[in-house]
Amino acid sequence: MDKIIDLHTHSIASDGSMSPAEIVRNAKGKGLAAIALTDHDTVDGVKEALEEGERIGIEVIPGIEISVDYKPEMHILGFFLDIKDYTNISRELGAIQQGREERNKKIISKLNKLGVNITTDEVKSVALGDITGRPHIARILVSKGYVKTINEAFDKYLSKDGLAYFKRFELQPIDGIKVIIKAGGIPVIAHPVFLRKSYVEMDKLLKELKEYGLAGIEAIYSENSKEDTGNFLRLAIKHELLVTGGSDFHGTYKNGIELGRGRGNLKVPYELLEKLRNV
Ligand code: AMP
Ligand code: ZN
Ligand code: FE
Ligand code: FE
Repeated sequence: MDKIIDLHTHSIASDGSMSPAEIVRNAKGKGLAAIALTDHDTVDGVKEALEEGERIGIEVIPGIEISVDYKPEMHILGFFLDIKDYTNISRELGAIQQGREERNKKIISKLNKLGVNITTDEVKSVALGDITGRPHIARILVSKGYVKTINEAFDKYLSKDGLAYFKRFELQPIDGIKVIIKAGGIPVIAHPVFLRKSYVEMDKLLKELKEYGLAGIEAIYSENSKEDTGNFLRLAIKHELLVTGGSDFHGTYKNGIELGRGRGNLKVPYELLEKLRNV
C-alpha cells in the first residue's frame, strides 16, 4: 500500500478541536506516514506534536499557516520551521495576534448591538490557546442557540458579507512569504482553489509570488475538483514549484473533513514530503 500523509492540520493551538498530541495519535491510528501541524499564526502546538510523534513513531513536520491581505483570501503555509529558534518571527506573530484581539472586540460589540449576548471571556474560554478567531465566536453562537451550525454562524454573522464582519490586520503577501523564510520554513501557497482564479490569472499570480520567494503550491486539497488538482499540478511544473497536499483538518470546527482523507478521496503521497525535505 502506498504511504499517505497530511500536510495541513489545525489543533486547539488555533481553531481546531483536537490537541496536537490527539491529532498525531489520530493520524497514526489512520495509518498515515506523516503529518504537518499548520496552526494559524502560531507555533505553540508544534512542540507537543513533535514529542508525541517521536513517542508513538510517526513523522511530524513543524508548520504554520498565515493569512495575508488579498481578495478573496490567501493563506501561506510554512513547512519545516526552525524549531530551535522562533524569536525572529515573534514580533510579526505578535502583531497578527494583537490584530485578532482588536477585531474580536469589534465583532463582539457588533454582535451585542444586534442583540446577541456574547463576551470576550467566553471567546477566550473556548479557544484554549492564544489564537482566538471567528471559529471560536461561531462555536459560542451555536452553543447559545443563536444559530444551528458553525457554517450558519459564518453565513449570517462572520463571513465577509456577514452582519458582524470586520477585517483584521494581515501581512502583505510578500511579507507573509518572507516571515516564513525568516523562520527557516518553506513557503507554500495554501488551498489555491479559494483564490477563485482562472488558469491564466493563477499562472500570472504564481509568477509574481515566486519572485517573492514562494517555493510551493498546495495542489492537492480537500475541496478541489479533479480538474482543479490537474491544473494546479500543471502550474507547479511550469513554475518549478514544490507540490504539497492536505485536508485542512479542524476536527469539529469543520465538519465532514477527515484527517488524511479530506472529504473521502484525498490522497497525498509520501513522495511529496521527500521532495519538500530535500530543498
Ligand atoms: P479567522 O482566522 O478568525 O479570520 O477565521 C478564519 C478561519 O475560519 C478559516 O481559516 C477557517 O478555518 C474558518 N472558516 C471560514 N469560513 C468558514 C465556514 N463557512 N465554516 C467553518 N469555518 C470557516
Ligand atoms: Zn482554521
Ligand atoms: Fe487556510
Ligand atoms: Fe487551514
